[in-house]
Amino acid sequence: MYIMDGKAVSKIVKEEVKKEIKELNIKPKLLVIIVGKDPASMVYVSSKEKACKQCLIEAETVCLEENASQKDVIDVIEKANKDKNINGILVQLPLPDHIDTEYVINKIDPDKDVDGLTNINQGKLVNGVKGIVPCTPKGIMRLFREYAVDLNGKNAIVIGRSVLVGKPIALLMLQANATVTVAHSKTKNLVDICKTKDIVVSAVGKPKFVTGEMVKEGAVVIDVGINRVHGTIVGDVDYYEVSEKAARLTPVPGGVGPMTIACLMENILECYKIQRGIK
Ligand code: NAP
Repeated sequence: MYIMDGKAVSKIVKEEVKKEIKELNIKPKLLVIIVGKDPASMVYVSSKEKACKQCLIEAETVCLEENASQKDVIDVIEKANKDKNINGILVQLPLPDHIDTEYVINKIDPDKDVDGLTNINQGKLVNGVKGIVPCTPKGIMRLFREYAVDLNGKNAIVIGRSVLVGKPIALLMLQANATVTVAHSKTKNLVDICKTKDIVVSAVGKPKFVTGEMVKEGAVVIDVGINRVHGTIVGDVDYYEVSEKAARLTPVPGGVGPMTIACLMENILECYKIQRGIK
């Protein structure tokens, strides 16, 4: 079994972004909005800030209190929409329960929507029109490319149907001519369906969810899950069992996670170029 080394590929992606920023002699800026002090979210935000620094992107974080109102969040977004010096706006999820996430996200100018989560960018993805693609699925597609995984005619399964990961990666794989099954919590006979697939993408959020018996000999397995177990981070895949059968597998940590952040950097640059009409 060969590891798909997301950490190594993410370095290449970040170097590409940095090089282009230097060549264009520009200073893109990201605004991150975080509501409350969820420890996992704080870690993600600091990784994003660190990557921005590596890529010569300016990053500013606005921290709102846990009890901030929906209007407070929207006010920050609307101000940033108008600010020509801010090129990307990212609302760190999850938001507290009293805030309507979908409503708030759709207040972001689609040209500054670096997470690709607005209805406009999601709609473009459905229609196969160029838009901002969510970072995690974009990172997975780049891993396929780097490791010469040809999706054409392959049978694939995506486990999970979130707007953030499951649906967009299914659409991207479909665009690349895979035959894609999307599974979710109501799917029956998942083990039997899964074990016939050439490619398995798991975005469920449950440790050891994908077991050895679910994976065909020689399959490519992408583990999107991030789960905390006794203070360590593990994915959705039973690494020990699945590594015995898969031809390629993404580790957790060091697989999809770093690719997500690297592709965020790409999206910030892409948003900048859209806003300034740079081809
Ligand atoms: P989510 O919104 O909670 O979605 C989870 C999906 O899993 C849902 O569609 C759910 O089905 C499905 N599911 C739950 N139990 C299932 C079961 N028994 N059988 C089949 N499907 C089942 O999560 P998400 O935002 O997509 O994230 C998924 C995981 O990826 C989490 O661990 C998250 O932390 C991680 N993640 C990692 C990255 C990264 O950069 N590596 C980025 C984003 C997310 P229903 O729709 O029927 O409820």
